[in-house]
Amino acid sequence: MTSSLAQARADFPILQTCVNGRRLVYLDSAASAQKPRAVLDAMTAFYEHDYANIHRGAYDLSLRATDLYEGARAKVQAFLGAEAPEEIVFTKGATEAINLVASSWGLTHLKSGDEILLTTLEHHANIVPWQLIRERTGITLRVVPITPEGDVRGEDVCAAMTPRTRLVALAHVSNVLGTVLPVREVAALAHAQGALVLVDGCQAVAHVPVNVRDLGADFYVFSGHKIYGPTGIGVLYARCDVLEAMPPYQGGGDMVERVTWEKTTFKAPPARFEAGTPPIAEAIGLAAALDYVQGFGFDILTPHDQALVRLAHERLTAIPGVRLFGTAAHKAAVVSFGLDGVHPHDLATVLDSEGVAIRAGHHCAQPLMQVLGVPATARASFALTTTEDDIAALESAVRKAKDLFA
Ligand code: PMP
Repeated sequence: MTSSLAQARADFPILQTCVNGRRLVYLDSAASAQKPRAVLDAMTAFYEHDYANIHRGAYDLSLRATDLYEGARAKVQAFLGAEAPEEIVFTKGATEAINLVASSWGLTHLKSGDEILLTTLEHHANIVPWQLIRERTGITLRVVPITPEGDVRGEDVCAAMTPRTRLVALAHVSNVLGTVLPVREVAALAHAQGALVLVDGCQAVAHVPVNVRDLGADFYVFSGHKIYGPTGIGVLYARCDVLEAMPPYQGGGDMVERVTWEKTTFKAPPARFEAGTPPIAEAIGLAAALDYVQGFGFDILTPHDQALVRLAHERLTAIPGVRLFGTAAHKAAVVSFGLDGVHPHDLATVLDSEGVAIRAGHHCAQPLMQVLGVPATARASFALTTTEDDIAALESAVRKAKDLFA
């Protein structure tokens, strides 16, 4: 492993492969990031040397596995700036984390007439769970509009808030537009009204420094696979007092104190929310991923991403017929665009033939697509391995597509 960004590509075995006979230019990290050797090695070493189920065993292997799993929790705590490891719940991903909050906190604390505020640019994972709760409780969902550049403004949040607002749930970074949302400002507004704040940090954690206490997040969720970790592991952060006032989400082993036919009592958080055998190796892989990212540090990573976004904007807008979606002043690692007369799926197919992997579609943000007035966009998203050469390859592949379809 290296801590120099210029050499980082060598840390990722998959980036040494070729696609269609060309160097792989992987520009789909917003969907899922590739994995550095350090993560693969940590998981293999665990399976080869320390593997056992956790928490229940009295033997050495199980104790070691438990230490590694709980060590991963402490690492996430430090990474997010949380106060205690008990505030970190491992889930299988951000989607499960939001569903956990919606089911457990939502069904306990929300009643008919209460309101939840979302923004126009939310991922389906931060829309549908709240719609499911709306069906069961009669709450209202209100939506904060975005500016033409793709920004969310504090004044629009203020205007949408009412005395019935109980929760503001918003992305930290948009997976379509790349906008970095003004979470700290929104949290202050929400708290002034007595509402809680849930932040969907999926697209933020690999790109901007996160400190949940500084942001004022009551809940913060993310998926391990978007920050160079494995799939099947995600994180729900919530303050201790908030978690303690939430009932279990799922029942099963390891989350109970005592079970009788008449009554079951539950452990304190986070165990209360981790029923069954958790993704142990995945938690260890996530911890290795966080170590890997922190080996570079956000003083290097954030400016690196921002320079790539600026360069991609410049290069793409120089191509006649290209339209950018999302031009907010504060952006991270995501560039959505369209090419006149070419469907984004066709564009992505031509790019693939050039070895450039991008995503095309609605990006699980159909309500946003409606506002943008398009069924889909093409999206290039960046990682710490992305280079100026990759942006040049993107530009030249888009030019090729333009010529092909002209
Ligand atoms: N929120 C955002 C902003 C996302 O980009 C994604 C993944 N595309 C999710 C939530 C859902 O993440 P997962 O599928 O890993 O649960």
